[in-house]
Amino acid sequence: MSDGALSIEELIDAVRARGVRPSVADHLSTDVSQAVKTVEEVREYLDALEPWDVARGGEFCWHDSLWRELPDDLAARFTHRLGSLHAAHIPGARRPLSMFQRDVPKEISPAVYMEFHLENLERLAAEMPVDILSHPTLLPIPFRELAVDELWTDALEERLVEALFRAEIAFEISNRYRPHERLVKRAHDRGVRLSLGSDGHTREQVGDLGFPLEMAARVGAAAESLFDPFVHGTRAAR
Ligand SMILES: [Zn+2]
Repeated sequence: MSDGALSIEELIDAVRARGVRPSVADHLSTDVSQAVKTVEEVREYLDALEPWDVARGGEFCWHDSLWRELPDDLAARFTHRLGSLHAAHIPGARRPLSMFQRDVPKEISPAVYMEFHLENLERLAAEMPVDILSHPTLLPIPFRELAVDELWTDALEERLVEALFRAEIAFEISNRYRPHERLVKRAHDRGVRLSLGSDGHTREQVGDLGFPLEMAARVGAAAESLFDPFVHGTRAAR
C-alpha cells in the first residue's frame, strides 16, 4: 500500500515459496511520496492485512509526525513496528537532511554529519515506540561510497548499540542497505536482538534473506535469538 509492487496475496505467495514467513511493512509516513499518510489510512492498512496470515509491520519515519499521532488501539494492532532515520535533524537547518538527497552542504563533512546522525539515532531510540531500527547504516547518498572506517568509529558504533540495547530495539540486518559485520557483531555481543529484513519491494526481492541470515550466522547469532514479534512480543503490548 506504499511503494511495493505486489498485492498482499502475491507477496505472501512469493515469500512462502522461499520458505520464509511473510511480513508486510509498508511506509507509514507523510514524508514518503507513495505511503500510508494518515491515522485513518493506517486503520485501513491494518484492516486490509488482518484477514491474512501475515505479520503486520509498518515502517515509520523518525522525522515525520504520523507515529506520534497513532492512538494506542491502532498501535496494538501491529505485530511489530519499525523506525527509520530517513532524514536527520541538523542544528540550525531549515529542514531535516534526507538520506536520499544528492548533495550535502559542504560545511557538513562526513565526520560532522556522523555526529548529528548519532544524535538523531539516540533520540529515535529513546523516543520512538518501535521494535526494530530499520537499515541502521543507511546514510545520505554522497556518503554511501565512503569506506566504513571513514564514517563509523568505535565510539559511534558503541553509542548506537547502547541506545538500542537500552530501548530494547532490535537491529535490522537489511538486505537492501547492508550493514558491516563489525557493527552487527557489536550489536549482537551487547545483547541487541538482530532482525532479518529483505526490505523487498518486488517479487524478486521479497523474502530474500540470504545475506541477513549469513551475516547473523557469521556473528554467532543463534536462530532462537533473532527478533521474532510472535515470540518476543511488540512494545505496544508491553
Ligand atoms: Zn526505509
